[in-house]
Amino acid sequence: LESGRQARPDAPPSSRIDPTMPHAARRYDYWLGGKDNFAADRASGDAVAAAYPAIRTTVIENRRFMHRATRHLATAGRIRQFLDIGTGIPTSPNMHEVAQHIAPGSRVVYVDNDPIVLAHARALLTSAPDGATAYVDADLRDPERILHHPDLRATLDLTRPVGLMLVAILHFLRDSDDPYGVTRRLIEAIPSGSYVVISHATTDLVPRHIAATAASTTATSMIDMAFRTRDQFESFFDGLELIPPGISPVTEWRPEDPPEQRTPAVQASMYAAVARKP
Ligand code: SAH
Repeated sequence: LESGRQARPDAPPSSRIDPTMPHAARRYDYWLGGKDNFAADRASGDAVAAAYPAIRTTVIENRRFMHRATRHLATAGRIRQFLDIGTGIPTSPNMHEVAQHIAPGSRVVYVDNDPIVLAHARALLTSAPDGATAYVDADLRDPERILHHPDLRATLDLTRPVGLMLVAILHFLRDSDDPYGVTRRLIEAIPSGSYVVISHATTDLVPRHIAATAASTTATSMIDMAFRTRDQFESFFDGLELIPPGISPVTEWRPEDPPEQRTPAVQASMYAAVARKP
């Protein structure tokens, strides 16, 4: 699992970047309107957009959910430490900026397995002086490596509540990657009073003909994705207390816009939820 290994000092992350194959982080950046992507990422992104034109709206709404959930954890949840796995290419505002805007002492550990995110990690290490940020080059499928990483241990106190962010990443794990076991292991490692934030792609919220093409498009777009149902999504929260409104379309999780200005769920077919560890 090459991408899960830590970059050796003599192997710059740029040498691990493959521009010929689409990568999830770069394709997401393309949909968001960023510049850190290659022709292969744009071709993959366009293939998905041909089947589901709302994909650009979807990623923007997912990003807005991440902001609202972070603010909720920082305010109502009084969370001051975050573990954000599947960070993505830095996009303003980054998670630590949202949290530190509310609580400047917030501490954030970012984790991603893509070398392009590592190459841009400096943009994530811009913590407010009272807080801290760290970047760990690791794979979600190896939770032990994440949890025992010295940079994580130096940044987070795992005896105090943590906000675990798994935002738009779990759909990149196949069932054979044990996404439920991996999530359970991470939740085990954080104490009572911690929060878990998850968003996940689904085809439940779109008409059947779009759902049908989504699976085949995933194959031609060269990035494997697992769409999960509401019940499958709910299983990630086993043993946790969902906070209101529970499981909802990503656009309907504590929305801040008036109803008439909100993106309809069909235009952003992702589930979102936040839960507290009792
Ligand atoms: N969480 C951000 C970015 C989502 S894009 C947001 O919601 O805005 C998904 C990110 O997950 C990409 O950066 C991709 O590189 C990362 N990713 C996918 N599979 C991963 C894995 N197995 N381990 C670590 N990161 C992974």
